[in-house]
Amino acid sequence: MTLTLDSLSRSYGGFHAVQSVSLSLSTNAIVGMIGPNGAGKTTLFSLINGLQSPSSGSVSLDGLDLTTLPAFKRARAGLAWTFQVPRPFSHLTVLENLLVAARNQPGDSILRAFFQPRATRRFEVEIERRAKQILEFLRLSHVSEEFSKNLSGGQKKLVELGRALMLEPKFILLDEPFAGVNPVLIDEISERIIELNQLGIGFLIIEHNIGALSRLCKRMVVLDHGRAIGDGSPAQVLADETVRMAYLGES
Ligand code: ATP
Repeated sequence: MTLTLDSLSRSYGGFHAVQSVSLSLSTNAIVGMIGPNGAGKTTLFSLINGLQSPSSGSVSLDGLDLTTLPAFKRARAGLAWTFQVPRPFSHLTVLENLLVAARNQPGDSILRAFFQPRATRRFEVEIERRAKQILEFLRLSHVSEEFSKNLSGGQKKLVELGRALMLEPKFILLDEPFAGVNPVLIDEISERIIELNQLGIGFLIIEHNIGALSRLCKRMVVLDHGRAIGDGSPAQVLADETVRMAYLGES
């Protein structure tokens, strides 16, 4: 499958946060995205997942035009994402956090609960089975009954990933999965991402930790002032003079 961004732009008044970004991202790949603060990375993510509308351009997943679809329909089409600052429900347990991610689909659950009690029970059994499998995969089973507020920063990032996985996505956008995470958990999160990718899930990952990102991805895109100014292997991109000037402040 391919996620295609075609001349995607977003302006706020006269300010161009994202300027004509075109990218083709395969679900075979883990693609990194770097760029200075304010380069437009998170804005680009929100144009892809539908939390914001583009001023112009389009987003499609394997030919299906997502551009005018609301976020929940994009999620149904196979797109999942995590936020820069993890947003688990603090007063729910880790397991409950995963369950609500699958349950709260607009238009679904109320009808199911009122008119299809048996289907609801089957659905509940099925999502609990899936949630437990995902927690095991993420090495989080031992904290499944813990309130999310008591987890470390890295564990919260893993819960976010778990919530995304509950949607059975084909493509996941990760916004700074390593921020505030200790090096041991960074390695663990990286391993899980690689394993998921081997199962056919594509990733686009915004990250400021260039070292960890370089080890994880074979392709890296650089955003600066809303434009894609670099695209290639981490070694190529990081050696590029334009990128070094823009991002690393070197000449
Ligand atoms: P960081 O690495 O710090 O997270 P970023 O590359 O993700 O930065 P964005 O958060 O996408 O950058 O912001 C890009 C630019 O767009 C910034 O200058 C920001 O102030 C501006 N911007 C983002 N959202 C809005 C908005 N709703 N209204 C006005 N300007 C905005």
